[in-house]
Amino acid sequence: MKLPIADRATLRDHTRELLRRHRRGLGGVLALHTLAAATGLAGPWLLGRMVDAVAHGTTTGYIDQVVAFLVVAVLAQTVLIRYAQRAAMILGETVFADLREQFIGTVTRLPLSTVERAGTGDLVGRTTNDIDRVQHSVRFGIPRILVTTATITLTLVAAFAVDAVVALGLLVGLPLLLGTTRWYLKRAAAGYLRESAAYATLNGTLTESVEGARTIDALGLGPRRRARIDADLREAFAAETYTLRLRTVLFPGVDLSFVLPIIAVVAWGAYLISTGATTVGAVTTIALYAVQVMHPIGELIFWLDEIQVGATSLARIIGVNAIGPDRVATDAAPADERVVARDLRYAYREGQDVLHGIGLDLEVGERLAVVGPSGAGKSTLGRMLAGIHPPTGGQVSVGGVPLVDLPLEDLRGHVALVTQEHHVFVGTVEQNLRLAKPSADDAELRRALEAVDAWEWVDALPDGLATEVGSGGASLTPAQAQQVALARLVLLDPHTLVLDEATSLLDPRAARHLERSLSAVLHGRTVVAIAHRLHTAHDADRVAVVDDGRITEIGRHDDLVAAGGEYAALWHSWQRD
Ligand code: ADP
Repeated sequence: MKLPIADRATLRDHTRELLRRHRRGLGGVLALHTLAAATGLAGPWLLGRMVDAVAHGTTTGYIDQVVAFLVVAVLAQTVLIRYAQRAAMILGETVFADLREQFIGTVTRLPLSTVERAGTGDLVGRTTNDIDRVQHSVRFGIPRILVTTATITLTLVAAFAVDAVVALGLLVGLPLLLGTTRWYLKRAAAGYLRESAAYATLNGTLTESVEGARTIDALGLGPRRRARIDADLREAFAAETYTLRLRTVLFPGVDLSFVLPIIAVVAWGAYLISTGATTVGAVTTIALYAVQVMHPIGELIFWLDEIQVGATSLARIIGVNAIGPDRVATDAAPADERVVARDLRYAYREGQDVLHGIGLDLEVGERLAVVGPSGAGKSTLGRMLAGIHPPTGGQVSVGGVPLVDLPLEDLRGHVALVTQEHHVFVGTVEQNLRLAKPSADDAELRRALEAVDAWEWVDALPDGLATEVGSGGASLTPAQAQQVALARLVLLDPHTLVLDEATSLLDPRAARHLERSLSAVLHGRTVVAIAHRLHTAHDADRVAVVDDGRITEIGRHDDLVAAGGEYAALWHSWQRD
């Protein structure tokens, strides 16, 4: 299952809403650039006046005056462009920051179950590659499109204002320009996407071949890999040739459509001058406008092309908004701390149940070990008991209320899952801890750290609780990171904990130390421990054997051993080893 991608209508609405929120900034940028473009129009106009003046005989005084105006216009344009560019960059950054914050807000609220089902790769791709692509379009594209459109429009209006009949010559290149750009833009985005996909595939194949060189050699797969690389190369070549063909149509087409109006204005103007319908000055002005408008048109085409690629990425980014919550909280309050599973079923893929109707009553304060072969469904059961995934059948409840009916922040105060994954967030130690309980004061943080045997080293850090940790800050050992995670649990204070191999990845010395911290956290709570080492099972109050998605045996260690069933067999074989 992939994360959704926004359709065209959603994309349009979203963009419109984004622009509407920044309409003041947009208005400011447009106004400044229109002013700058307007001062830019003064040059050709003044030159035209000068030409006419010279043709009719004039004084050096008049020429000096026109030149002085020209200098003022150029200076004014320089200053205006400086502020307009600055405003445009600020606008681009603001819009992009807004987009990024929205996205982070959505991503951090996504139901864990959805993200896990889609695979984190898809989400990471969207938060990195797609954001990168969009950032280019938003930061530079939106401002430049506004600016070039304003400049082009203004120049055309000015040309028609000087002499509408001569200015008609400007339109000669239009059909060719529109024709080639439309033709190009229709094909470009797909063409360039195909090109980058082809290179990604080629890179993948090459890397795989190099990394697996020994295996390929050993299995004699050389010719097959070579054929694969050749095929990838052919595809990359074809994709590259295709976009090259697009450019060989676009560039000459656009260039020709730039030159045609200049020729037309001059030729058509010359004819009109001969009939006395216009002046040399007016033709000069309009011909200069035709030259001046070339650059903004070229830039506009470039950005329309870029924006298309940006839009496909934006569709992937805002597509994430379409994911609904996986649960809706009711205001039911649990009556007690008893966690109960009834006819619990779960399927990662529709129709393929991994858990086949599990029933389980946890005694308050008991310690239950869950054992069984790998792939039996132990971790899945653990995640259900902690309310990570809504079950696909049956339910898990606490004090009579289904876990998925509880608001997430309340749920974690009842049941929490502890896994081998622990994360130190960038920030201070206290910020890391207050994630679990924002209202905790320093004394409470200290007590939590003391409970997990971590106060001593935290206190010894340069700034104690206020020391920056995580990437860029003080680096913590894996054991220390785990202790911080455990201290968060103490603050969260759930009455029931599900442990999924919490310490198995650590080196044995750290593990022993951590186990002390851990047992301090477990004290007085109901604990479900998914055990891979049977000594955990031996020390538990009860043991549940999970096999193929069912609890096949459950009871006290001694009783199960005496019964001589599956657990007894596991236990004896473990003891022999
Ligand atoms: P255990 O913890 O006992 O090793 P799991 O609960 O991890 O077992 O897995 C139970 C079954 O569910 C296995 O067949 C496994 O392949 C499948 N499974 C686990 N996680 C996923 C997942 N994210 N997507 C699809 N199938 C999964």
